[in-house]
Amino acid sequence: MSEPASWQLPLWQSLLPLGRSEETGGYRRYSFTRADTECRDWFRREAERRSLRVETDQNSNLWAWWDPSDEPEGEVGAIVTGSHLDSVPDGGPFDGPLGVVSAFVAIDLLAEAGQVPVRPVGVVAFTEEEGGRFGVSCLGSRLLTGAIAPERARELTDADGVDLAAAMTQAGLDPDAVGADPQRMAGIDAFIELHVEQGSALADMDAAIGVAESIWPHGRWRIDFTGRADHAGTTKLTDRRDPMLPFAATALAARTVATELGARATFGKVRAEPGAANAISSVVHAWLDARAPDEDTLKEMVSQITAVAELSGKGHGVSVTSRCESLTPIVEFDLDFRDRVVTALARRGIDAPVLPTGAGHDAGILAAVLPTAMLFVRNPSGVSHSPAEHAEPEDCEAGVVALAGVLEELACR
Ligand SMILES: [Zn+2]
Repeated sequence: MSEPASWQLPLWQSLLPLGRSEETGGYRRYSFTRADTECRDWFRREAERRSLRVETDQNSNLWAWWDPSDEPEGEVGAIVTGSHLDSVPDGGPFDGPLGVVSAFVAIDLLAEAGQVPVRPVGVVAFTEEEGGRFGVSCLGSRLLTGAIAPERARELTDADGVDLAAAMTQAGLDPDAVGADPQRMAGIDAFIELHVEQGSALADMDAAIGVAESIWPHGRWRIDFTGRADHAGTTKLTDRRDPMLPFAATALAARTVATELGARATFGKVRAEPGAANAISSVVHAWLDARAPDEDTLKEMVSQITAVAELSGKGHGVSVTSRCESLTPIVEFDLDFRDRVVTALARRGIDAPVLPTGAGHDAGILAAVLPTAMLFVRNPSGVSHSPAEHAEPEDCEAGVVALAGVLEELACR
C-alpha cells in the first residue's frame, strides 16, 4: 500500500500489520481468532482516543458512538457509518477497513471543524462480513436484523469443524445471546457504508467517488460430487467413478453459462477427498458463487449449472447433490436517502456517479430495514479479495471528505 494521506496515517499504521500473512502479504482476519481480537482492540483504542462511547452488541458487532452533548429535540435516531474488519483468505487491506478508518477520520475532520452532532453518530464494525470462517456472508448484520435464525447461525461450522457457538465461547462471548436486536435498530435512522470499489467502473468513469444504486442478487451453492476412491495407477479409465471429471465439466459450464447470461459464476473453493496425489478422489466438494443483475437470471444460471453437474455426474457414475448455502435478493438502495447523499456531495462540489455493484455488503442487509446508502472509492485495477487490492491515497482522502460532508449534513449543526 502506498502512503495514505498524512492525517489518516496513524490509523493505517496501527491497523495494517494486524492479521497480515508474511508469506502472501494478504490478510487472514477470521472471526474470533487472534487477528480478529487484535482488530477489535484496535477499534476500541481508536474509539477511546476520540472519546467515543464503545460497545459490543449481542452479535459481537462493535459500535463507537459520538453522542450529542445536548439532548436531541424530538425523536431523532442515529446516523451510522462503518463497515467490517474481517477478511477473506488473503484479502486486501481496504475491503472493510477503509470504511472503518474513513469513519473515524471523518469524525476527526468534523470535530476539528467545530461541528457538533445533533443526533448520535455511530461507527460500526460488523462481524464476519466475508463469511471467511463460517461460510455465511454478512453474519453480524444478518443476526442483528433477524435475517438469519440464531439457532442456524450457532450451528455454522468452520473448516476445522468448530461451530460458531464454540468459537464465540472461546473468545469470551455468549453465543446464546445472538439474534435480532430490534431495539438497537429502532434507534438508527440511516446507515451509510463507505467501501473500496470491487470493480473498475469508477476508474473507467474517471471518478474518485461513486454512490451505489443497487447490489446484484447473489448466493453460494455447495455441490457435492460423490464417486469412488481408487488407485490412480491400476484402475482402468473405463472402470473409474472419478468425481473430479464432472466437477471440471461443471466449472467450465459455469463460465459459459455466466457469459451467455451476462452474469458471474465462480468456483473459488474446492475440496477433494481423500486428497491424495496418487488416488482417484472419493468426493469433490465445490462451492459456486453466483451473481446476476436480476433474480430470474440468477435462478436460470444456477439451474443450468447444476443441470450440467447432474448430467455429467451420470455419465461418470458419480452422484451429485447441491444445496443453497446463502441467497441474498437484489438490493435497491433507498432512493430518497440516496438523493440526500448525492445532493450533500453536489453541494460540496463532489461529483459522484451512481453505479450498481456485484459485491455484497452489510449495507445490503441493513437496506431491508433502514434507509441505507453506500459510497465507493475508486479502485484503479478493480482487483479485490486479493493482496493486490489498491486505492490511491488521494482517493481515500476524497472518500473521507465525502463521508464527512454527508455526516455533517445529516447529523451536525
Ligand atoms: Zn467488504
